[in-house]
Amino acid sequence: MNQAILLDKRPLGRPKLSDFKFVAEALPEIEADEIMLKTSYVSVDPYLRGRMNSAKSYVAPFELQKPISSGVIAEVIESRHKRFQTGDFVSGLLEWKEYQKSKGEGLIKVDADKAPLSAYLGVLGMTGLTAKLGLSEIGLPREGETMVVSGAAGAVGSVAGQIGKIMGCRVVGIAGSDEKVEMLRSEFGFDEAINYKTTPHMRKAIAAACPEGVDVYFDNVGGAISDAVMVHINQFARIVVCGAISVYNETSLPQSMSVQPLLVRNSALMQGFIVSNYQAKFREAMMQLSRWLAEGKLKYTETIVEGFDQIPQAFMDLFDGRNKGKLVVKI
Ligand code: NAP
Repeated sequence: MNQAILLDKRPLGRPKLSDFKFVAEALPEIEADEIMLKTSYVSVDPYLRGRMNSAKSYVAPFELQKPISSGVIAEVIESRHKRFQTGDFVSGLLEWKEYQKSKGEGLIKVDADKAPLSAYLGVLGMTGLTAKLGLSEIGLPREGETMVVSGAAGAVGSVAGQIGKIMGCRVVGIAGSDEKVEMLRSEFGFDEAINYKTTPHMRKAIAAACPEGVDVYFDNVGGAISDAVMVHINQFARIVVCGAISVYNETSLPQSMSVQPLLVRNSALMQGFIVSNYQAKFREAMMQLSRWLAEGKLKYTETIVEGFDQIPQAFMDLFDGRNKGKLVVKI
């Protein structure tokens, strides 16, 4: 038998284990031009929370009683498809199932000899591309500028901050534990890092960490943390609105500071960013990330949880900050 994880209920507020349902189903059989895939790694991502709501967004909501899908690395264990051989590993948007068949559409082969397979879900996958393209398309960090990154110890944030350093910026990270703050400084080369959970006055802490103001803000969290950063933006600042995890579980539209006067006063640019809008640039961006990794200019960390049955819990752990770097589930 095969196992699958369905969305049983649309979460109200924070997701709960009871919002997910494990079901057993018969193993599929492949036909001509199909492959059989065995799941190796599953990516859990904050944006999946939005897909669990019924509201219209840039990706369709998950359907109730249907399998959830996300970035997956899988092994081809049987092939009747000319593009894939048994033993190939592929990356793509696939269902939360132990085994599934596919016609190969949207799947790309990944090379286990070039990088650990899990890296293709992180630094060499969607989150690495998000950091790279969010900065090269909107943030445009320049030598000598100050860049602030929220959600800095996570998959996107840790890469974004390091790219800021490569570009010659002073980089300040915001994260949710002393251990993460220490990691940002000592392992990822951030100039300063602030623990937002223990800092009583974030505005003052950001002023102290950014004596020359903020030129680039790579925002992964939104909410009160971002309000505290926004009051320090400089003239011509660029704000990459990449994510807003602090409000993903809100049940009504959260109250927030009015940023328009700050944007006008500083001739600043604030732009929402969705990585899938930049697919034409993925190849080039991936090559740059690979080069930086090979040169040792870029490092990454991962939190790897084991077991198919742990996928829903791992997803929920994102909202408690249990991960450092990319959170993936190894099957
Ligand atoms: P991640 O940062 O690896 O994991 C989420 C982190 O968010 C947690 O570790 C936690 O770290 C932090 N967090 C959770 N609740 C928070 C809260 N209430 N306030 C502040 N921080 C909180 O996840 P990721 O995959 O790299 O994604 C980061 C952000 O980028 C998310 O908002 C995501 O939706 C967004 N994203 C956007 C795109 C795009 O195309 N726009 C693509 C990928 C990701 P702490 O311990 O620091 O709290």
